[in-house]
Amino acid sequence: MPAVRGLRAYDPGHDLVALRRRFAPGGLVELGSNENPYGPGPRAREAAAAVLGELHRYPDPLGGDLKRALAAKHGVDAAQVILGNGSHELLMQLAQVFAGPGVDVAMSQFGFAVYAIAAQAVGANLRIAPALPRDAGMPRGHDLDAIATTITPETRLVYLANPNNPTGTWFAHDAFATFLARVPGDTLVVIDEAYAEIADAPDFASALPLLAAHRNLVVTRTFSKAYALAGLRVGYAVAHPDVIALLERLRESFNVNAVALAAAEAALGDDDWLRETLAANATQRDLLAAALRERGWPVSPSQTNFLLVEFGEDTARLEQGLLARGVVLRPMAGYGLPQCSRISVGSAAENRALLAALDELASGSEFSGVAR
Ligand SMILES: *Cc1c(COP(=O)(O)O)cnc(C)c1O
Repeated sequence: MPAVRGLRAYDPGHDLVALRRRFAPGGLVELGSNENPYGPGPRAREAAAAVLGELHRYPDPLGGDLKRALAAKHGVDAAQVILGNGSHELLMQLAQVFAGPGVDVAMSQFGFAVYAIAAQAVGANLRIAPALPRDAGMPRGHDLDAIATTITPETRLVYLANPNNPTGTWFAHDAFATFLARVPGDTLVVIDEAYAEIADAPDFASALPLLAAHRNLVVTRTFSKAYALAGLRVGYAVAHPDVIALLERLRESFNVNAVALAAAEAALGDDDWLRETLAANATQRDLLAAALRERGWPVSPSQTNFLLVEFGEDTARLEQGLLARGVVLRPMAGYGLPQCSRISVGSAAENRALLAALDELASGSEFSGVAR
């Protein structure tokens, strides 16, 4: 298929399995994939373990218990929820169902890489709106006006992320409501809230309450980031029941496994654990951002569990040097940002290891060009 020939596969960063083998057990500092460094809470772990005796059985094909738990949490009907093998699967499915050849799909420059793959995989025409400038209050963030301007009568799908990966930036609730009012009713607006649980800025709000008034809105969420279940692959989308019913037609049978269903439901019910892990992330994020800025490297504002950092001309050399010392970041050249790295906020010990390695590299003669 010509559309697939033109694609570039999703780039997960480094070969982590090989790197883990190279460094002592637990010796690798993994700050490349925005995982929760603290791991799932005891309730999710127990729920996962309880399923192990039943692994010869297929999972619940409808994921009914998890869907009902999600519906109750978000104040929607269970018919408004679909589960995915990670939200990545649902982002792809949205394009499969609602886009195709002759259809336009809109997104922002520096938007999450999966949106472009999803659109191109189905042969749709991708229209990319320029991001906000580097010196804006939200450097390289989504420009909602520019995105609205990119929408044509052929646009069936718009992908936005709030907060966005890889920039860490967010847009205000009011601005999004204004944007949504400008979008034609037959254009579906997908808002990817993979980091929404983490965001607590006063002007940030989830788009979920807007679902009641907008049948063309889809909100995607994941258990991979704040909920620390990346290894189990479970995400979900919330939308009008008619939109969900269409998505269900292309859902693979038993797409969410039994361990994932049980652990996600338990994690959802463990508010204390979530609160603690989010507080730790916020503390560590502020400390890490301050430490990097103190060393002269610009850091974008972030409402997530990662930071976009400008190492400038030394980016590639620093990334190589860190890798040799067992510290993994996510290179940004694939996003057209070769002067930046995306750093997941780790535990206190992981962040200290990162800063120590950076200091060692920046003081070495081979890195005399580092901006500090
Ligand atoms: C990590 C991430 C996802 C994908 O998460 P999964 O549920 O693990 O597939 C989706 N969107 C954004 C913006 C992300 O950063």
